Amino acid sequence: MNFYMPTKVVLEDNCVKENGTEIKKFGKKAMLVTGARSAKLNGAQEDVITVLEQEKIAYTVFDRIKSNPDINSVYEGAKIAREEKVDFIISIGGGSPMDAGKAIALLAAQDVQREELFSGKYGSEVLPMVHIPTTAGTGSEVTPYAILTNDGLQTKTSLSSPILFPKLALCDPKYMLSLSKEVTINTAIDALSHAIEGMLTKKSSKVTDVLAIESIKNIISCYEELKSGELTLDQRKSLLYASTLAGMVIAHTGTTAVHSMGYSLTYFRDIDHGRANGMILPYFMQKLEGKMGDTITTIYQAMGVSDNEHLKEWLDGLLGEKESITREEIEEFSLIAINAKNIKNCSVELSLEEMKEIYLQSFGLQ
Ligand code: FE
Repeated sequence: MNFYMPTKVVLEDNCVKENGTEIKKFGKKAMLVTGARSAKLNGAQEDVITVLEQEKIAYTVFDRIKSNPDINSVYEGAKIAREEKVDFIISIGGGSPMDAGKAIALLAAQDVQREELFSGKYGSEVLPMVHIPTTAGTGSEVTPYAILTNDGLQTKTSLSSPILFPKLALCDPKYMLSLSKEVTINTAIDALSHAIEGMLTKKSSKVTDVLAIESIKNIISCYEELKSGELTLDQRKSLLYASTLAGMVIAHTGTTAVHSMGYSLTYFRDIDHGRANGMILPYFMQKLEGKMGDTITTIYQAMGVSDNEHLKEWLDGLLGEKESITREEIEEFSLIAINAKNIKNCSVELSLEEMKEIYLQSFGLQ
């Protein structure tokens, strides 16, 4: 076994307000990295500022992170972090601010040229990071990855390094109470996809499988409420617990072709990341049934579904009507996906033809 998870995780009600002394350990000046709106609406930014003021920690706010952040935004954030001489980064939000915060923490501490950004060849310097998730999906608060839009390759690409693990993750489910039904579903599917994909990688282990199964069970326990959009605080907590566990899974295993194939749907068609995964996932699993039957059966059992058809029905119940894409787009997307890093990570490597088939099936074209 080889398990490394250096992030201190606190998953409790009001954990931001109750962990001022933990936050204070990271320095005298913080930079808050977040998006323009949601951290203000859900109360997370206010809680953080209250704690910083209580602890007499100075701060600056960088709230210009958009969905699927690009390279320019993280270089801009890092420039401000240097100018403001901040000691540490507090990222508040879903995957976009949390991933951008990691890249900013890296680029504020060391000079990395744009061409080297995705190389993983960095020194050891990085600003300490506190991550506060406000969605239950990405698991970024416990991973060493920062996924950015890579216009050079026309997809999303991952920065990956053990130095990118946050020092502290403060997970309070109340920030998720104001999430829309659509965001709640999409992020829950992203977490589910992380747990399932983790089990289907070359790097899965007994420990990551245990975490993945626990994650899957917590997500499926909220199925009816996800469909109705009426989730209690306890159910929000279950989904957050599940997404954090699934983050710990992919921190070790990485993801698979599902994520690679989904990235094109996000990059070119603006389909939400979790939703894109959910469209691809059952057809990917169907392809693996002959080669990894035992693991697939274990996943179906954990989900309480009898077979692949049942899994598709389960996901369709959450995804609703699907977008349409053309055969030309599928040709183009498959060629991009086949070159992604995570393709080689699957226990069973797919061919270009198999990928095309999965896209066609996912969109009802075959
Ligand atoms: Fe994901």
